[in-house]
This record gives sequence, structure tokens and C-alpha cells, in this order.
Amino acid sequence: MRDYTDIYVDGEWIPSTGVQRIDVVNPATEELIATVPDGTDDDVARAAAAAKAAFPAWAALSPVERADWMQKLTDGLQARADEIARTVSSEIGMPYAQSIEWQSALPIRNFQFYADHLREFSYDAGAVKHSLVVREPVGVVGCITPWNYPLHQIALKVAPALAAGCTVVLKPSEVAPLTGYILAEVADSIGLPAGVFNLVIGVGHTVGEAIAASEDIDMVSFTGSTAAGIRVSEVAAKTVKKVALELGGKSANLILDDADLEAAVIDGVGNCFFNAGQTCTALTRMLVPRSRLEEAEGYAKAAAEGYLTGDPFASTTLLGPVVSERQHERVVSLIEQGIAEGASLVTGGTTTVSDTGYFVAPTVFSGVEPDMAIARQEIFGPVLAILPYDDEEAGIELANSSEYGLAGGVWAGSEERAIRVARRLRTGQVSINGGGFNNEAPFGGYKRSGNGREAGAAGFEEFLETKSLHLRSVRAE
Ligand code: NAD
Repeated sequence: MRDYTDIYVDGEWIPSTGVQRIDVVNPATEELIATVPDGTDDDVARAAAAAKAAFPAWAALSPVERADWMQKLTDGLQARADEIARTVSSEIGMPYAQSIEWQSALPIRNFQFYADHLREFSYDAGAVKHSLVVREPVGVVGCITPWNYPLHQIALKVAPALAAGCTVVLKPSEVAPLTGYILAEVADSIGLPAGVFNLVIGVGHTVGEAIAASEDIDMVSFTGSTAAGIRVSEVAAKTVKKVALELGGKSANLILDDADLEAAVIDGVGNCFFNAGQTCTALTRMLVPRSRLEEAEGYAKAAAEGYLTGDPFASTTLLGPVVSERQHERVVSLIEQGIAEGASLVTGGTTTVSDTGYFVAPTVFSGVEPDMAIARQEIFGPVLAILPYDDEEAGIELANSSEYGLAGGVWAGSEERAIRVARRLRTGQVSINGGGFNNEAPFGGYKRSGNGREAGAAGFEEFLETKSLHLRSVRAE
């Protein structure tokens, strides 16, 4: 158990002005693992002022100089890679064997990517008639992040923002804030110039909204629920700052009639249950040809029942707990609603998995109707909804019948057919026949899943302004 009382502002660890504390709880054991400050508007004001003061000098560094700092940050995180994986497994319950890759190696790779990208990037974007077009960093960026992939979500914002030449005020999730502290410790240990990276801690409606409202912050980059993203946009609108939103999802996995059904269902169950269903891109709606519904249920039941639930640090565990008591209540209540609305429970349900910890049994519903809550709402737990459809056109319509548009999957007998259908899905990314995640491809949502793109070169662009310099003469290109 560690009590964190400080925030990191202007290159110093200083006490938060918040008097209350926030508990960080291990969801597998229900033990208190840390307390952190319940920060204030004043914390944000100090951090934003420091970031504003640090901006001109940081932005004026050459790309190679900033890339060297990014490399030091990457190396500092790499030296603590195992601690990062253990920390996240303790905070959110992801099995440690998976955390090593997804909660530690992946975010460190993202830092490395931007260190490398910066060495190649040109801020001169060419000429348009008699105008030179140049790129510049946006300014001070407020980063607000969720708990489900805590350091990964931080990395997708902080790494490209810093690399681009922006300075940063980070507010990690109050549910899983500890890797935010590790990043600040690394920044401090390498002697990153004061004010370039600042860490504040606290809840959304105070510290988060203070970031969105701040006159000193030029852009807010938010990842979290759609409701909170809407609120961030409303608060930020008064200062006309740039707002990038990565929000929720209810993604469809459209299995076409000529697909390898068994492979598609097994892969789809794994995708849905990964991180106990707490992934924004989770394929939580499995769309299956009506004629093959029963067969799909059989494969899904067998696959789901193979998900061994338990201690995240046991090597056999595939499914940890959900993140908190509150999340557990929400997931159980949506399972109850699914049963009450008449969906057929294939496996799982509300049975208690363990007396200790916020575990939910891997759950599969079938015969789910599009208007049921479990087909519409983001559950964020290990709950799969199987929906039947009649033909390709109806399947595409059903896939698109969501207020969200984050991700999707298409399985077909040929890649060509799957790609043709995937082009018609109104989502920011689609997995083709089980194609895997790519951390350098543009990532983001359509509709209420957000705007803007993170990851790779596209994610770097988000933190740049474009300026035109109108010359008196036409430049030869
Ligand atoms: P959340 O919206 O409760 O919180 C996310 C962050 O926003 C936290 O730091 C929180 O303190 C802050 N926040 C909450 N209310 C705020 C407000 N009014 N003003 C400013 N900040 C506020 O989400 P969560 O429970 O931490 O994470 C789960 C959600 O995040 C899911 O909806 C999931 O789909 C989404 N998510 C999206 C992506 C993506 O890239 N699209 C990735 C991961 C998670």
C-alpha cells in the first residue's frame, strides 16, 4: 500500500491542494493498494500555467533534440516494463501474462514509434501557389484517459503530443492512476525540462472539467465514455479549443454465410472476453446467419466455458475480474436485464464466481433482438450477445444499427468478400477474418464513438496546426 500525496508540476513533486483521498483497489482481492489525491481546479491551474510557460522552448527544439528526449522516456519506461505490467494487473485485474504485452510492451512501443517518427518527420508541408505550408505543434495539450488500458491510452496521447512539440497536462483515470505516476517518475528521472510534462490526479467532474475549461490549454484529447466525452466538448466549447474524442463502442462481428463458422465464433468469443470485456473495440455483438444460429451457440458455449476465471497472477487465468464494484454492479444488472427482456442465456449469467473480487462469469446470450439493452449498450464486461440475421444486406444493416461506430469484424469465405462488406460498415476499424490490432494504423471512431484519430502517423497529425505563409513570389517546387 502506498500513499501518493503529490502531483508532478513544473518539474517538481508538489502536494496536491485536494484534501480528500481516492482509494485505488485491487479488483481481484478487494485490497487497497494505494491512495491518490482527489485533486482540484487549483492543481490544474498550476499545471496548465507550467505547461504554457514551457511550451515555447520545447516547441523550438529541433525534431532530433526532441526525439532524443522521447528516446530517453522510452528507455526509462522500458527499464520498468515488468513493474508496469504488475501495476496494471493489480489495478484493473488483467491477467499478468497478457498485461506484459498489452499493458506494458505495447505502450512502450508507442513511445518508441514517436521517437522514431519524429526523426523522419518534416514540419514543412510544401507550397501551394505562392504560399508555403508549415506545421507547428498545437500548444498545451490536456490529456484525459480511462482505466482499461491505462498506460496505452496515456501513450497514445502523451507520446505524440510531446514528440510534436506540445507540452502536456495529463489526468489519468482515478481508477487506475499508478502508471501515470510511473511515467512522471521517468520524466523526472531523465530530467525532462520543467513544465513539459505535468501530472494531475483527480475525478472527472472537477479535475477533468478544469482541464477542458482551462484558458491555458489549447487542446484536450479525451478517451473515455461517450457521456463524459460530450461533457468535455460542452465545457471546452467556451474556449474554442481543439477537442479529440475516443469514446465508447458496441461493435459488431458480422459472420457471413460462407465463413469458417467455428473459427469465427471462437475468435469472436476471445475478442469479446479479452480484458474481461473491458476493451472499447470489443466485438460484443456477434451477427450470425439465422440458419446457423444453433451451431454458433454450440461453439460459443464451448469456447466461453474454457475461459478460466481467477487470480490475475496465476498463469492459467484467462479472465480476471472487472475493474470495480461499481462496474460489477453495472454488468450484473445488464445481464439481469438481458434475461428479463427474453434473450436466451447460453452460458454464464449472474452466478457468484468467487466470494472475493469483482468477477463475472463469462456470459453468452443468443436470440438477442436489436432493441434489447444488451444489444445497444456498452456493457464493458465479459458478455457476448449473438444476434441472428437473414441475408448479407440485413447483416450489414444490423451491424450499422448502433449509435456507436468504433470497430467491427467481418468473416467471409474470401478476403475479397469480407473487404467489400467491411467497406460498408460505418466504423473506424474493421478486422477482416480475424486480422489483428495494428498499433501504427489510424485508430478512432465514427458516430458517437468519437472524432479524430490516434496511433501511428495519423495520431501525430492530431497535435499539429497548419500555417500558410503567403509570399510575394511563386516558389518553384
Ligand atoms: P469515463 O468516461 O468514466 O472516464 C474516462 C476519463 O474521463 C477519466 O479520467 C475520468 O476521470 C474522466 N472524466 C469523467 N467525467 C468527466 C468529465 N465530466 N469531464 C472531464 N473528464 C471526465 O470512462 P472509463 O470508465 O474510465 O473508461 C471506459 C470508457 O472508455 C468506455 O466507454 C470505453 O469504451 C471508453 N474507451 C474508449 C477508447 C477509445 O479509444 N475509443 C479506449 C478505451 C476506453
